[in-house]
Amino acid sequence: MAYNNIVVLGAGVSGLTTAYLLSQDPANKITVLAKHMPGDYDIEYASPWAGANYMPVGKEGSAHHKWERDTWPALKEITEKYPEAGIHFRGTLIYNRKKDQETDTGKWFSELTQPNPWYKDVVPDFKNVPSDQLAPGVDNAQEFTSVCINTAVYLPWLVGQCIKNGAVFNRAVFKHIADAANAHHTGHKADVVINCTGLSSKTLGGVLDDKMYPARGQIVVVRNDPGPMISTSGTDDGEDEALYIMTRAAGGGTILGGSYQKHNWNGIPDMNLANRIMKRCIDICPSLVKKGQGIEGLDIIRHGVGLRPLREGGTRIEKDKVDGVAIVHNYGHGGFGYQASFGCAYTAVSLVKEVLQNKSRAKL
Ligand code: FAD
Repeated sequence: MAYNNIVVLGAGVSGLTTAYLLSQDPANKITVLAKHMPGDYDIEYASPWAGANYMPVGKEGSAHHKWERDTWPALKEITEKYPEAGIHFRGTLIYNRKKDQETDTGKWFSELTQPNPWYKDVVPDFKNVPSDQLAPGVDNAQEFTSVCINTAVYLPWLVGQCIKNGAVFNRAVFKHIADAANAHHTGHKADVVINCTGLSSKTLGGVLDDKMYPARGQIVVVRNDPGPMISTSGTDDGEDEALYIMTRAAGGGTILGGSYQKHNWNGIPDMNLANRIMKRCIDICPSLVKKGQGIEGLDIIRHGVGLRPLREGGTRIEKDKVDGVAIVHNYGHGGFGYQASFGCAYTAVSLVKEVLQNKSRAKL
């Protein structure tokens, strides 16, 4: 059999999902190379910090919409078939206030919060909350069943699946993307390098994508478990502050969020913001704590900050050639890297196949 030597650069959810799909073909010999691997917590590594849940935000008719739509069946199947992957189904409540429409968080969630979104036909149990049951200030609300992913379990599960299929994982740091082609575990030059370096695509030689920028997300992880997931279109505390609650599968704790602070690179938790996050979450979901308690009723596991890898013009999934090395880019997934992970990886894999076909033709 003729083998394809493939390097996946990056071990966040984008790199691991792409490697997982590619590893299902025994003709692919895959090396996953990364500065950070599952188990690490670092401001340069977005994936461990995510909630993570499936709350679609792609505009109807866009590629983003397709990626999110195509991801739901895969997440559903993993949730049902592989409980050890650390994903569970969870009831979800979304609250929309029209006054948030022009804020950063309101714009980010504009598809999620509208009463007739495309994803009503994708997720189970979608229904609008009757208007006479809405809390004061809420203009519309919907409920549906979604998933919540325990990233501390799911990312290692993906690693395990790849290794089971023969992929090799190595730590490596590259200044230039073309150098990654020389680090395939067989010693042969890679036929293609898949660039899944997230926000670092801004500074990685051979890519230097100045459209990349961060949207800082601050969270508090607590042991309290309030039940359903909740998200709102915005808050009264600031245009780039958010409000969401999600309990991870398999004892992963509950994530209280958050913020959506564009162009803010600060990796240190801001304790004033943390207090606002905790207070807002209790206000909207009093069952988070015992009756009569405030934030002292929260049992905090940790405070955290992650940088969502946003890209002006949207996610980049395309073929490229750098210094003679074939590249497939798959980066710039903002706040939707999990909920679009399979859709994006399917697109990346189809581009990898095109590159490999061209390689075979060139040899004939
Ligand atoms: P990353 O996870 O950042 O991985 C990049 C990889 O590339 C790392 O392994 C890194 O070491 C490697 N790398 C980079 N440069 C180099 C180099 N030069 N050499 C070697 N290796 C390199 N998404 C959802 O879908 N649902 C959610 O609920 C959700 N909630 C979120 C909450 C927060 C607070 C945050 C911060 C994000 C959230 N997201 C959510 C977004 C999601 O986390 C990101 O979109 C996703 O993690 C991006 O993954 P990635 O693999 O592209 O990048």
